[in-house]
Amino acid sequence: MCLKFRNKYMSKVIISVKDLVKNYGSFQAVKGISFDVNEGEIFGLLGPNGAGKSTTLEIIETLRSKSAGEVWVNGFNLDKDPNSIKQVIGVQLQTSGFYPGLNLVELIELFAGLYNRKIIARDLLKMVNLEDKAKSKFKDLSGGQKQRFSIATTLINEPRIIFLDEPTTGLDPQARRNLWDLIQSIRAKGTTVIITTHYMDEAEVLCDRIAIIDAGKIIALATPDKLIDDLVATGFERPKEVKKANLEDVFIHLTGHALRDEK
Ligand code: ADP
Ligand code: MG
Repeated sequence: MCLKFRNKYMSKVIISVKDLVKNYGSFQAVKGISFDVNEGEIFGLLGPNGAGKSTTLEIIETLRSKSAGEVWVNGFNLDKDPNSIKQVIGVQLQTSGFYPGLNLVELIELFAGLYNRKIIARDLLKMVNLEDKAKSKFKDLSGGQKQRFSIATTLINEPRIIFLDEPTTGLDPQARRNLWDLIQSIRAKGTTVIITTHYMDEAEVLCDRIAIIDAGKIIALATPDKLIDDLVATGFERPKEVKKANLEDVFIHLTGHALRDEK
């Protein structure tokens, strides 16, 4: 964690969620949760499947209605000014919007047109290390390349905040690490990142703070260090002595860091 960075960016609250509730019929998926996200941080939303992570994100993204509670994004109230919120956030687009006939440059130009933005598609592709794939179709990309392209599409409107819902699910270890670098480089430019993941090692490496949500409630919210220290303070110990490496270390040591999806 970069302390200098924290001092520079982390004083201002950019997202504030208060007593958020989401009912799907008689089922309450989100049960009155409250949290703040600070400008410039990587904020992790962790929790088992069905915990309410995607519902929460989609409400903040203005894509899903809420049942109760209040949400502010960059000072804009979700009920009063959703259009202003849309302008400052970047959301991973559904891949169904990636028209099969268009190549990556054409897709970015199409989305830029929708956002009314002038951007140089090749510069954006370069940022996510896809400049060699400019003329390729989305369907012909590897899993890691697809995720990098999807993250690129969140940046088209030069947002203050991006939302990444399980961006590394299903990727091989090399592609996962590559995406960590990309996410850290996006944050280094001052963009706030909200991410969900099921990989705890990833959350530990990437996230400045983490909210753990279970069955629609936030059950912990702190830095990864604090969460671990609090558990240790209860007397918790790992059942086995920890080795100096794990199987993932072995895998990366044997197969290297280089991405395998570049042809
Ligand atoms: P997560 O992203 O943490 O896996 P979700 O926010 O997708 O969780 O879902 C939370 C709960 O709400 C789950 O039990 C899910 O089945 C339910 N749910 C999600 N979307 C709908 C919907 N459109 N209609 C009814 N129930 C839904
Ligand atoms: Mg989800």
